[in-house]
Amino acid sequence: FFITFEGPDGAGKTTIISMVAKELKGALLTREPGGIDIAEQIRKVILDKENIAMDSRTEALLYAAARRQHLVEKVKPALEDGKVVLCDRFVDSSLAYQGHARGLGIDEVYSINQFAIDKMMPDLTIYFDIEPELGLQRINKNKGREVNRLDLEHLDFHQKVREGYHMVLERFPNRIVKIDASGEVNDVYSTTMDVIKEYLFK
Ligand code: ATP
Ligand code: C5P
Ligand code: MG
Repeated sequence: FFITFEGPDGAGKTTIISMVAKELKGALLTREPGGIDIAEQIRKVILDKENIAMDSRTEALLYAAARRQHLVEKVKPALEDGKVVLCDRFVDSSLAYQGHARGLGIDEVYSINQFAIDKMMPDLTIYFDIEPELGLQRINKNKGREVNRLDLEHLDFHQKVREGYHMVLERFPNRIVKIDASGEVNDVYSTTMDVIKEYLFK
């Protein structure tokens, strides 16, 4: 099973996915953009705060390129081995961030990603919904986090990201489950585990 975790910055994806990975022994935990060497190199280029000249379409293509390499090199072999793959962000991030928030269009970004993904869509996507104000507050409290190019964006950008996720949710209602991520870590975690167990063991 291929399970992806989505949501705006600071929603708690990385926190909760690592708790889920501890519980589901044998599951592969990975992330996007990155997860393997080539894609981590592309991640550096995308997120480098010096790269303010990056065009939005270039950005969308780099995400799709990193996604392609990560899929063929890591995700696909693990799924073929029968593993559960837990991925921190996937194609819905591109639809929400580049498609809607950057204004490229959800359909356009989906179409370049179809080329990259070649029908490998997730079986289940957990979408952590949060007010961007709260997500950004959480991130600002986390002093250890390295500043990236996206941190230069303002609140309205993050509001558009959330709006984009809601549009994506409407488009794929059978695959995506929305969870309120504004509560305490343990509550969000237990709701998440309920959804995953229901899905894996139904
Ligand atoms: P990003 O999109 O930037 O990677 P994220 O969705 O992965 O963000 P995390 O890195 O998991 O979010 O969490 C952001 C910060 O908020 C961390 O410092 C984390 O410890 C804290 N945090 C995560 N979940 C909660 C929660 N439910 N309540 C309060 N703080 C939280
Ligand atoms: O989730 P993670 O912390 O790995 O994401 C790194 C940064 O990349 C975040 O600031 C996120 O907003 C941004 N991002 C993006 N478009 C995507 C995926 C991530 O702008 N498609
Ligand atoms: Mg994260």
